[in-house]
Order: sequence, then structure tokens, then C-alpha cells
Amino acid sequence: MLLITCPYCGPRPEIEFAARGEAHVARAAPDGDGEAVAASLWLRTNPKGLIAERWRHVAGCGRFFNAVRHTVTDRFVTTYRVDEPRPDLAALAAAVGARGEGAR
Ligand SMILES: [Zn+2]
Repeated sequence: MLLITCPYCGPRPEIEFAARGEAHVARAAPDGDGEAVAASLWLRTNPKGLIAERWRHVAGCGRFFNAVRHTVTDRFVTTYRVDEPRPDLAALAAAVGARGEGAR
């Protein structure tokens, strides 16, 4: 069973959570350029490696939070509240790689 750590409730089973897409996406103004609006709505980075994602603890506190997850191993590296700054993904990738927990 995969455990995801809610920043408010602690570790819980993955079935209590719902993924809500990539975090830290800059939204375009709705009355702005059509291409910019479409890009902000539909284009995502889809990296092979670490990504910052928005999650919601739907069967727990109901709050949104962000998580850094490895897209190959599905391992959650860290979770943090939405009002906290985005962690340095390159530094986290180096730390994960140094521990031998990166992509296989
Ligand atoms: Zn929670």
C-alpha cells in the first residue's frame, strides 16, 4: 500500500487522496491572448522524473496540498502546504539520486 503524507494529517493510504494535476501553473488572464489562455489550461510539462503536483485529501481533512512525486517510480519525495514555496526540484532529485531511489 502506498502511503501519502498529508501535511495536516500525516501518513494515510493513497485511496484517501485525489490527484489534481500539476502544481504552480501560472494562470493566464481569461480576457488575455487566446493562445496563452489555452496553454495555461492544457499544456503541462509531463517530465520523466520529479514533478510538483496538487493533491487533495478527499477522504480526510479535505484540504489541498502539493507533493513532489517521481513519475517513474511513483515515489513521493515530499509534501507541503499550498502556502509554502515550491522546493528546489533539482536539489531534491540530486538527494534522491544520491540515496539510490531515483528512476530505474
Ligand atoms: Zn489531511
